[in-house]
Amino acid sequence: MSEALSKNTGSKNTGTSNARTKKPGTRAPGLTLAAGMARLGTETAFEVLARAQALAAQGKDIINLGIGQPDFKTPAHIVEAGCKALRDGHHGYTAAAGIPVLREAVAADLHRRHGVEVDPGQVLIVPGGKVTMFFAILMFGEPGAEIVYPNPGFPIYESVINFTGAKAVAMPLHEETGFSFNADEVLALITPRTRLLILNSPANPTGGAVPRSELDKLVKGLLAQPQVAIMSDEIYGQMLYDGREHVSLLRYPELKERVILLDGWSKTYAMTGWRLGYSVWPKALFTQAERLAVNCHSCVNASAQYAGLAALTGPQESVGQMVEAFDRRRRVIVRALNQIPGFRCVEPGGAFYAFPNVAGTGLDARALQKKFLEEAGVATIAGTSFGRFGEGYIRFSYANSTENIERALERIRACLSET
Ligand code: PMP
Repeated sequence: MSEALSKNTGSKNTGTSNARTKKPGTRAPGLTLAAGMARLGTETAFEVLARAQALAAQGKDIINLGIGQPDFKTPAHIVEAGCKALRDGHHGYTAAAGIPVLREAVAADLHRRHGVEVDPGQVLIVPGGKVTMFFAILMFGEPGAEIVYPNPGFPIYESVINFTGAKAVAMPLHEETGFSFNADEVLALITPRTRLLILNSPANPTGGAVPRSELDKLVKGLLAQPQVAIMSDEIYGQMLYDGREHVSLLRYPELKERVILLDGWSKTYAMTGWRLGYSVWPKALFTQAERLAVNCHSCVNASAQYAGLAALTGPQESVGQMVEAFDRRRRVIVRALNQIPGFRCVEPGGAFYAFPNVAGTGLDARALQKKFLEEAGVATIAGTSFGRFGEGYIRFSYANSTENIERALERIRACLSET
């Protein structure tokens, strides 16, 4: 697969609500908005992207390491399947839960990858991975409820929890353990009011991958907390390095009645813009999830579903090739980051992000993000965009060519040595 960078136009990314992000007000002239609107966060990475594009428009050479999506193209056979579906007349609504053949293909893929039996009737096809987290949090979140989420973590978890009025309980992730969670620490955060626990491995923004032993320990502890549902965000599940194995939460039959799996095509098949994802819901929750889909989006774009079918049933070589390319870049970026004075970077076990500790520079994360973009022409995302425990860190995406990664890091080194 070519390392050629596809244009980062229309790209979508991560970053979130933080103190400096302008919050929407609850009042517009003459209008009163629902209170939850003032609690909704955002993805600050969009701001970085807008600024990077503005600088590029002024003629500046900007290297984008802020982007949270593969820089590869969707494999040609998948694109063709989407086009063919339209030519064949698949232009109308589909069943709200998705076309049956795709739901079956998802179940077969989960069996292939995890060795688990999943009833296609529990698979909900949704427009992107994000929709699953939105639905799961809406389903459980309200004032008085508590939801535990990873911090630093994907920003939308905290944002939507706050939106519902539930208490967002941060599960801190630590550099010392490669940003895996500590099962005892997670279990200690659970109270009788905890309704949902959000897990994400491999993780954004840290690249952390939870080892099986820690997961086993957590699952054991959760048996004593039957009131807690678990949403497992496994969108980077096929992006693991150094022989690590992805252990899906679906593999624990003892949690079958309360695990919600979030997965999709965005990362694995370089399909972020297609807006296609899926969830597996416990039997007792499926009808509720499907009802949310009917109320929200009716169904997913039919041609995207056919493209998704081709992705799962067609050749898988492109997945391995992309992951190999990410692995090569991972080694390049981690080595280069560790050579920058004031930086210290643990090896990310998965996904395509490096999350170095930059406290040694003496500058806070947000100041560094700004400096790198304005002075070095390198877009990165401050760790605080992913929650308060992200202070002192910067997220670098290595979904970019090796050459660009090397150039970007050289520029950062030079810009820091000037101060
Ligand atoms: N979960 C995580 C951890 C992610 O990083 C992302 C995308 N950056 C998503 C979910 C959402 O994926 P999608 O683009 O399919 O909505």
